[in-house]
Amino acid sequence: MTEEEKEAAERDHTKRIRRIRQAIVLLLVFLCILPTMISVWALHRIGQMNGELENIERMLLQLPAAGNGGEGRMTEQPRSEEPALPEKSAVSTEEQDWSRAYLDDPSEEAIEEEIHTEVKHVYLTFDDGPSVYTDDILDILDRYGVKATFFVNGRSGYDTQYRRIVEDGHSIGMHSYSHVYERVYKDLDSFAEDLYQIQKLIYDLTGVDCHLYRFPGGSSNQVHDMDMKRCIQYLNAKDIHYFDWNVSSGDALPGTHSAEEITSTVLSQVSRSGDDTVVVLMHDSPTKKTTVEALPAILDALLSTDGVDILPITDDTKCIQHIK
Ligand SMILES: [Zn+2]
Repeated sequence: MTEEEKEAAERDHTKRIRRIRQAIVLLLVFLCILPTMISVWALHRIGQMNGELENIERMLLQLPAAGNGGEGRMTEQPRSEEPALPEKSAVSTEEQDWSRAYLDDPSEEAIEEEIHTEVKHVYLTFDDGPSVYTDDILDILDRYGVKATFFVNGRSGYDTQYRRIVEDGHSIGMHSYSHVYERVYKDLDSFAEDLYQIQKLIYDLTGVDCHLYRFPGGSSNQVHDMDMKRCIQYLNAKDIHYFDWNVSSGDALPGTHSAEEITSTVLSQVSRSGDDTVVVLMHDSPTKKTTVEALPAILDALLSTDGVDILPITDDTKCIQHIK
């Protein structure tokens, strides 16, 4: 290799190194600039979204108060990121919020802050009585000044309790005479005969012409082959209203349930319920002592909650039914 060729090769080598250096520098510059560009874009987008949120809030404040019957009682709209939701969903979001606040922080301030103006009508119902605990239940309800509903069976030795239920101002309903599934649901004649027996017993003892009914096992029970629609048609023809429940205390589920369990089951379901009519299923029976023990705590909590009204079921109460 001549001296000239050597110099040419050295120049080429130097050029290549320079190009590689330039490429590395460009790459480094690009890597530095990219995150900065992303940050700038993100800040710009956040700014845009803030503007949109403010617009949505302004639109919400201009809407009329939802679901308050036009009485102007709702002074503040709930904050929501979904302003286009229909009225029903807005209400249920509100009630879910109430439920969360109630469960996390049961202080009165928290409940008052979260509940707006929705009123919940709560109906406490006791099935399967009268029993050795009927007087205890009545004493507690009396102490709290609360009226409930007793769906009774035909039981001998409890004439005083049937009468006291009515005299104390509670509602009395039928829960079949026998509560024996094989008999009540044997066929329509058997159902009708059992119904007649309990209706007559209540009338003879209390003078009440009873038109409230709760099916043993509820209208959606799976304990027999009979078509429940036929029983329902029979009740409808006699202008008898049947009530199921949308809150269960769980006191009839297998196993023993402590008063604390029953209390928290009832209260959490009542607070979560999106319905303005809440029918709570409980039992008045010799094996349900813890239900009686739970009652004061349940009443304490419900009575101290704004927007909750505890009432006895009447012929005018909105029917809560599993099957219609
Ligand atoms: Zn029952």
